[in-house]
Amino acid sequence: MIALPRSLSDNAQAMVPSGIREISEHVFALEAQGKGPFISLTAGEPSFRAPDHVQAAAIQQIQKGHMGYIENAGMTALRLKLAEMLSRRHGVATIKDNVLVSIGAMGCLSSSALALFNAGDEVLVPDPGYPNYGMIFALIGAKLVPYACPSEKEFQPDMDDVAVKIGPKTAGILVCSPSNPTGAVMTEESLDRFVTLARMYNLWLLSDEIYEDLVYEEPFKSLVSRAPERTVYYSGFSKTYAMTGYRVGYMRAPAPLIDRIAHMHEALVSCGVPAAQAGALAALEGDQSIVADMRASYQARRDAVVALVQEAGLETYVPGGAFYLMLGLPALPMDSRAFCFRLLETEQVAVAPGRAFGMKGEGHVRISLATAQEKLLEGVSRLLKIYKTLC
Ligand code: PLP
Repeated sequence: MIALPRSLSDNAQAMVPSGIREISEHVFALEAQGKGPFISLTAGEPSFRAPDHVQAAAIQQIQKGHMGYIENAGMTALRLKLAEMLSRRHGVATIKDNVLVSIGAMGCLSSSALALFNAGDEVLVPDPGYPNYGMIFALIGAKLVPYACPSEKEFQPDMDDVAVKIGPKTAGILVCSPSNPTGAVMTEESLDRFVTLARMYNLWLLSDEIYEDLVYEEPFKSLVSRAPERTVYYSGFSKTYAMTGYRVGYMRAPAPLIDRIAHMHEALVSCGVPAAQAGALAALEGDQSIVADMRASYQARRDAVVALVQEAGLETYVPGGAFYLMLGLPALPMDSRAFCFRLLETEQVAVAPGRAFGMKGEGHVRISLATAQEKLLEGVSRLLKIYKTLC
């Protein structure tokens, strides 16, 4: 380690590397030693390419030379289209001034967290939950308070636990439905309870709905229409349209908050990338059957993996949305992290340890169903084989 002239900020030091990253870094290190090939089931990276018309629109934007700075809150045409889509889809009156487009949903989550919370504020987050939330709140010195979404309840939030975790310093509750890492889709009853609690204690609701287009059986229910006055809704193009590297996400919130975040955006990133946002606009305007086709593929992969797991004599819930399965491995003689390293070294398969998503994730591994089916099934078969030999 090279010594730095001065120590880094407390917030920088509070950032702990994610347990998913630890596994993928290990894959890179093994590959550098000539080992592999590896089957990676760690990332939420769709196996599809962005639709052709999206690519064409992005390329055209560059070729036309329209690549200067754009509005801090995103291209007006895209914000208008998103406002119209959100009004129609979620039944919540939305105008351009309620919408901000950022560098992925991550850009929306982190810039809004900076606008909403102070150091010392407490924010309730799901356990198990997406580890990046913790990294965002570490950046601003806000405290993460996990609420349980236990496997015994098929990873639905324990609303009594949510209620008892609210204290005098609580400033917001984060909800993720469909969930990363579990695929659980929140029930209407839970959504209503979140709203009641948020109104009772005057809290912000942060609703991460980036997987809203990947819901398999039930029609999707959004939080945003229930309490638009206090909900910051997040979504994006990464998952729905297989556009992860385009880095286009968006949020919907009360207009004065969007206005403030747009100013902060200037300091954080200036603005988004015109070619990427032109691609996003084309995605919204183009044929939506592409989304349905990708959803059908993820559903087929989910069903095939669930069948494989059940054939091996293991019990599992069936995730209702997103493209993850949090597989419980109840007889493991080691923790989930040690198991993931063992699986990697002996079977060349990478999955994420459940502990990386919180205490309630221990005893599980997260399998990403975003990987192409053949590789996915081969990876899961090897996982089940080593699990059997260990137990
Ligand atoms: N929220 C959740 C729950 C995610 O799983 C992800 C990405 O994996 C994101 C947000 C960030 O998405 P984006 O690529 O739009 O930044």
